[in-house]
Amino acid sequence: MVHRFRGGIHPEDKKEATRHKQVESLPPPPRIILPMSMHIGAPCEPVVRPDQEVFVGQLIADSNAPVSAPIHSPVSGKVLAIDPFPHPNGGRVKSVVIENDGKDTPHESVLPKGSVESLTPDQLLRIVREAGLVGLGGAAFPTHVKVTSARGKCDTLILNAAECEPYITTDHRLMLEAPEEVIGGFRALIKLLEPRRAVIAVESNKRDALESLRRTLPGKTNIELVTLRTRYPQGAEKQLIKAVTGREVPPGKLPADVRCAVFNAVTAASLHRAVTTGMPLTRRTVTVAGSAVANAKNLSVPFGTPMIDVFNATGGFREKPVKVLTGGPMMGVAQFDLSAPLIKGCNALLAFAKDDVPPGGDEICIRCGRCVRACPMNLLPVYLYMNERKDRLDELENLRLNDCIECGSCSYVCPGRLHLVHSIRTGKQKLRDKKG
Ligand code: SF4
Ligand code: SF4
Repeated sequence: MVHRFRGGIHPEDKKEATRHKQVESLPPPPRIILPMSMHIGAPCEPVVRPDQEVFVGQLIADSNAPVSAPIHSPVSGKVLAIDPFPHPNGGRVKSVVIENDGKDTPHESVLPKGSVESLTPDQLLRIVREAGLVGLGGAAFPTHVKVTSARGKCDTLILNAAECEPYITTDHRLMLEAPEEVIGGFRALIKLLEPRRAVIAVESNKRDALESLRRTLPGKTNIELVTLRTRYPQGAEKQLIKAVTGREVPPGKLPADVRCAVFNAVTAASLHRAVTTGMPLTRRTVTVAGSAVANAKNLSVPFGTPMIDVFNATGGFREKPVKVLTGGPMMGVAQFDLSAPLIKGCNALLAFAKDDVPPGGDEICIRCGRCVRACPMNLLPVYLYMNERKDRLDELENLRLNDCIECGSCSYVCPGRLHLVHSIRTGKQKLRDKKG
């Protein structure tokens, strides 16, 4: 078993509610809302118009910008409108609204593309882009950009199946229910990047998933299975690279700078489906859980489904939630309008009842140093907080504020209830504003 990166924490994993539950497929709702921003990078522009008939898997929006990813329809039906709608990252974003005709008619472009063996690396890369693939571990960075920047530079390819955030079990279920898709997609990535070493990294709390992958791999294979010690944030790229290779990604640098590339297991499986069925990315598995949820589940949800419909599909709320998050409890984004739709980067919808949300109160630093010991990036969270409060922007840069990966470990351990991550995010915005 390998470990270890500096710092980190060991929160209760809270995965029991869904880890044994098979993924259920949620039918698309009568109306789908597809925001033009579903990924990191430039937003897309619609390539359809109101009243146009559309089909499952049809291209709905695209961009010429170098960092972006196209968007496809998860339903057949008619474009109702192109208007601003609430977005899970806040504000209102231009969105294509499609009325679902319930017929699930696939678009003519949805055809199997061949096999990993029969396709050239350039053909595979084109499929990655045309399928609208993005990092599905939560980052939502366009996969074709990541592959392009890593080609010819990496000797180690890592498939990230750590899934270290509490509650979330989508990668775990995928490895149990469709290990051939994970391995098929990883083989496509190997063909694209030609690394010397190819590793699938899984945390030790998912031994059945490891076994499932081991059974699926052929007897003779160049793919290594590595068990990681369970520790948060083991799934963060820099921490994973350190744990698997011992290499440190220097501050401000990328995995390719230490000859590594990291892709998420769900992203790989989506690539496999895009190759073998021709279906672009139109839905994903989401863990729906938390103390306010009546019946926690893993659901395969079409993009554009309003969040409230996803909660209702699990039986709704057992009591009124006081906090709703997209993503896990450590790095998730608070939600205030559940009519906003599910987008590509959302791997969990969590809703918490009153007793599960700590009461607010005075923020008092008792100088215990726990935040410093917990920080996996070797930062000084308490000093970042104090300097952000006093608008000392030069000092924030000296303290490497922008190296913070917003993992939430410092806030989690802080007995003084300081809103450390919130302050760090605010500090990053202040630095961006200063630079214009
Ligand atoms: S300062 Fe940033 S990287 Fe360090 S523990 Fe806090 S959130 Fe994580
Ligand atoms: S963990 Fe909280 S209380 Fe302790 S030093 Fe850091 S900010 Fe202060």
